[in-house]
Amino acid sequence: TIILGLESSCDETAAALVTGDGRVLAHRLATQEEAHRPYGGVVPEIAARAHVEMLTPLIAAAFEEAGLTLADVDAIAATAGPGLIGGVMVGLVTGKALAHAADKPLIAVNHLEGHALSPRLADQSLQFPYLLLLVSGGHCQLLRVEGVGRYKRLATTIDDAAGEAFDKTAKLLGLGYPGGPRVEKAAALGNAKAVPLPRPLVGTSEPHFSFAGLKSAVMRAAQAGQHSVEDIAASFQQAVIDCLLDRTARALSNSHGVTALVVAGGVAANGAIRAALEKLAADNDLPFVAPPMWLCTDNAAMIGWAGAERFAAGLIDGLDVAARPRWPLDPDAEAARGAGV
Ligand code: ATP
Ligand code: MG
Ligand code: FE
Repeated sequence: TIILGLESSCDETAAALVTGDGRVLAHRLATQEEAHRPYGGVVPEIAARAHVEMLTPLIAAAFEEAGLTLADVDAIAATAGPGLIGGVMVGLVTGKALAHAADKPLIAVNHLEGHALSPRLADQSLQFPYLLLLVSGGHCQLLRVEGVGRYKRLATTIDDAAGEAFDKTAKLLGLGYPGGPRVEKAAALGNAKAVPLPRPLVGTSEPHFSFAGLKSAVMRAAQAGQHSVEDIAASFQQAVIDCLLDRTARALSNSHGVTALVVAGGVAANGAIRAALEKLAADNDLPFVAPPMWLCTDNAAMIGWAGAERFAAGLIDGLDVAARPRWPLDPDAEAARGAGV
């Protein structure tokens, strides 16, 4: 099978052609970083307009790269949420129009499911169930991935996401946007022990994450002006690693029968975080799976792949499917904790 994947939920516009046996025939991506940089973050209206401009040419380029046409695909998979609703609608409506015009099935993909299944595109041998640390710009969760569409959320952040903490820290330190890669670069030149910073919730019996207190401490350190940007960045990154490791270790000790420790989402592109998780997996005698960097940050190959997994499971959507700004992977866990978490 061949699936066309479309992604437009944040500030990356992307189109990809992916096969059911895990080959990426083409992937095209346009990032809007330059357009949003003057504002220090993503401006929803600018994002939506850019998706409108970029998506159709990217789809055409993907087909050209693969030497295929719309008639060759078996289904069209588009991100239907969660994300900035204007952007999500651009991709979903485009997917609907193509599906209708070519009389192909439409698959509405949860962007988080795209991240969650991306490790199985990277490593075809990865089997369910696995323990997933999903760390991205809007989310920080531990999930037990039991199958396609079957996610048990074990932990989430009670305030900021990990990527959000990186982005806010970058802004505070004057490193600019987007923050994650810039903080990682600065951190590599600094001393991680230079600045004492808190590790919220580490060692506690509750399973969740928290990064707001860490961000405030970084702000105080930056304002005090006694430390270099590099030392603050390195100390911040180490604090994030300690939080992620402690919480993931806790979840691992409560998870029975998982085949691997897996990380996905934009923050999984961070080399220091990957290395720390790899060691944690080895200490627990588990394989460690992390997608290549380009598959960690937003892209359409992971949407096409999630579409392929859903297609194989017979999960097709109607053309009346709605775009969803909020769309939890595990609605039961979300309901249990109440809205907002
Ligand atoms: P979500 O997937 O939760 O809807 P998103 O799609 O905006 O949010 P992603 O594209 O998955 O998020 O990830 C982007 C995030 O990853 C940003 O917060 C960015 O700072 C972070 N990030 C990217 N590269 C790195 C890195 N090398 N180190 C740390 N963080 C990084
Ligand atoms: Mg982005
Ligand atoms: Fe994402």
